[in-house]
Amino acid sequence: MYREIILKKGKDSSLLRRHPWVFSGAIATDYSSFLDGECVRVVSHSGKYLGTGHFQHGSIAVRILTFEEESLDQGFWDKRVQRMVLLRTTLGLFEHRGICRLCHGEGDELPGLIMDYYNGAVVMQCHSVGMLNHLAEITHALKTSLGERFIALYHKSSDTLPKRQEIQDGYLYGECTVPHVAYEDGIQYAIDWETGQKTGFFIDQRDNRSLLGKMSRGKTVLNAFCYSGGFSLQALNNQAKLVYSLDSSPKAIALTERNLELNEFRDRHVSVVADAMEFLKELPESFDIIVLDPPAFAKHLDKKHKAVQGYKRLNAHALRQIKPGGILFTFSCSQVIDKDLFQHTIVAASIESGRKVRILHQLHQPADHPIGAFHPEGEYLKGLVLYVE
Ligand code: SAH
Repeated sequence: MYREIILKKGKDSSLLRRHPWVFSGAIATDYSSFLDGECVRVVSHSGKYLGTGHFQHGSIAVRILTFEEESLDQGFWDKRVQRMVLLRTTLGLFEHRGICRLCHGEGDELPGLIMDYYNGAVVMQCHSVGMLNHLAEITHALKTSLGERFIALYHKSSDTLPKRQEIQDGYLYGECTVPHVAYEDGIQYAIDWETGQKTGFFIDQRDNRSLLGKMSRGKTVLNAFCYSGGFSLQALNNQAKLVYSLDSSPKAIALTERNLELNEFRDRHVSVVADAMEFLKELPESFDIIVLDPPAFAKHLDKKHKAVQGYKRLNAHALRQIKPGGILFTFSCSQVIDKDLFQHTIVAASIESGRKVRILHQLHQPADHPIGAFHPEGEYLKGLVLYVE
């Protein structure tokens, strides 16, 4: 039986609306003896059951996994995993040795759990200590639900969980040599989750990369913040005239070059290791298309103002430099910068650049990164495609 967390009077309304977070300030129980990762039952001040989840000391004290009165046993995990697999099957994402996000935390009603799927290999990252209690059940559920489409499970939580947890990254099921090849839109990617950033690939830009591909024919493209080169490969695959891939990390450029080689793109490409802001001040070519996909400038609310200034400066540089009739793909993955604030910032950058700008597309995260209807904080990736005269 799980220990109980009793809420203060009047603090149950967000859970009744099925928002999955309990903030520490809402709790009446003295939780000093509770352990990080402990499964708890949350009840209202009058003792009414509200949900079951993982406790962790911090601002978000409980992450709710279920609002039904049930235990987090194998049956629970089987249902949850079956449901995430069903959604991605419906979206057609397992086809053609594909790539998809299999579990998107709150968006799949599993706060704290991220799983990405690469042509048979699943890479799991826990963002809450409580998820570590269920590794065996999750592995078993993946076997049942994915069947032959499941060859290995790699657990990589050493950089997502607090240091006090002793975490060994490694295979929980099967084995798979890295880099492992998987396909997006018919393009091959060599993915290395063992040494790469996050789970090895930025799956969330799939639809946006594909849109860029459609606009690339005969164009000169600058892909700034390229990581493993997805936007560049899409452009080259769609007959771009010349593509520059830029990243400040030499390792990222090496990944891009490996992917170019894998797809036999041997010309029409220039690699640049540089700081994007510096590079944009004085470009060696004039570009028809520029992509700006920086890492999150603001990870916390207190960094919001500085982040806005950063996005404005970066975008103003790109807007000033782009060819007349050019197209800018610009993104923010900072969760604390919402889509309105991002758009206002880009409008401010447009004014500063003195260019005439129109918005062609408003972009966001793809369908395998669903946003729980009761958890709007799950929306994090936003982008704009601008036409610059
Ligand atoms: N667009 C990529 C994902 C980008 S991730 C894709 O489709 O896969 C962000 C990248 O920005 C990382 O590779 C990181 O190394 C790079 N980066 C961070 N700061 C940078 C800077 N100041 N200049 C250039 N690249 C930077």
